[in-house]
Amino acid sequence: MRKHIFNAGPCILADVVRENTAKAVIELGSCGQSIMEVSHRSKDFEAIMKETVDLFKEILDVPEGYSVLFLGGGASLQFAMIPFNFLNTKAAYLNTGTWATGAIKEAKLFGQVDVVASSEDKNFSYIPKNYVIPEDADYFHITTNNTIFGTEILKDLDCKVPLVADMSSDILSRPVDISKYDLIYGGAQKNMGPAGVTVIIIKNEMLERVTRGNIPTMLKYRVHVENDSMKNTPPCTAIFTVREVLKWVKSMGGLTEMDRRAQTKADLLYNAIDSSKVFIGTAAKEDRSRMNICFVMKEAYKEKENDFLELTKTKGIIGIKGHRSVGGFRASCYNALEIESVQVLVDAMKEFEKSIS
Ligand SMILES: *Cc1c(COP(=O)(O)O)cnc(C)c1O
Repeated sequence: MRKHIFNAGPCILADVVRENTAKAVIELGSCGQSIMEVSHRSKDFEAIMKETVDLFKEILDVPEGYSVLFLGGGASLQFAMIPFNFLNTKAAYLNTGTWATGAIKEAKLFGQVDVVASSEDKNFSYIPKNYVIPEDADYFHITTNNTIFGTEILKDLDCKVPLVADMSSDILSRPVDISKYDLIYGGAQKNMGPAGVTVIIIKNEMLERVTRGNIPTMLKYRVHVENDSMKNTPPCTAIFTVREVLKWVKSMGGLTEMDRRAQTKADLLYNAIDSSKVFIGTAAKEDRSRMNICFVMKEAYKEKENDFLELTKTKGIIGIKGHRSVGGFRASCYNALEIESVQVLVDAMKEFEKSIS
């Protein structure tokens, strides 16, 4: 039986996405080869790559003057590629969690890093506000959704220096004003596909800002833009699946519908948490993530967390054990998760609450 998949990543994928990928793994169309075997220089794959880029641009309404790349290396490689290419004197970072901290650590290898604000004082349970971004920074880096701590920046910020965003875990969950950003990146496996491919939206003007001379070929954005993500062999199968996800998103009604689904699911679960005698949310209400919903048991019930996990297992719920740095539970409600699965979780919470009070 199919589980209710609340995994934080890799994420749940829609049935049609898995079915079409399964078919292509056996044979891509009628070309007599699997998507895993076909040459990335073939007409068949070039068409898939082009369609993936075009669909992505259409769904996210990417303006003229931006390039979309699909590369390997994960979002973690972007932590290094961004400063390698763009940190000439100093960069500004907002520290909102483990991933942001990782990005900061890598940037420090390349130059001065100004952490303009951090929410580490309260275990990253909120998004800092009223910070000042130095106007001489080469760029300002944010993490729009903090997968581990369950906070999210849902507004597209105004920023006088180039704005760089790690959107790994909330890309495709709402319409975004791309024109406010200069670089957006994300590992596909959170809300956009399987592991193995990373999407990058880069404003072409950014390429003019690169002054460092000794950047290895594969770490240069310009090389990937000029070669349409095909400087070397791309992760063909993962890209195929991303295309299927994009087709699914479009068929569902695009990002307006993804936005509505995300809000409906988050409202259902947060309402259950807020009205519970047993459970309590960990993130500041105004900064709550719609993608990763973190909650724990109140002090009086703490020792019952394992019992609740056992109950959820009997309901086919999977992946809700919280990350060790928060504890408790984390329900990741990515695009393909149906509201029925959230309802099953909410019902389990109510059943458990009844059984212990
Ligand atoms: C998972 C995650 C990453 C790391 O992604 P990889 O593709 O595994 O390198 C980076 N940032 C955020 C916000 C994430 O959730």
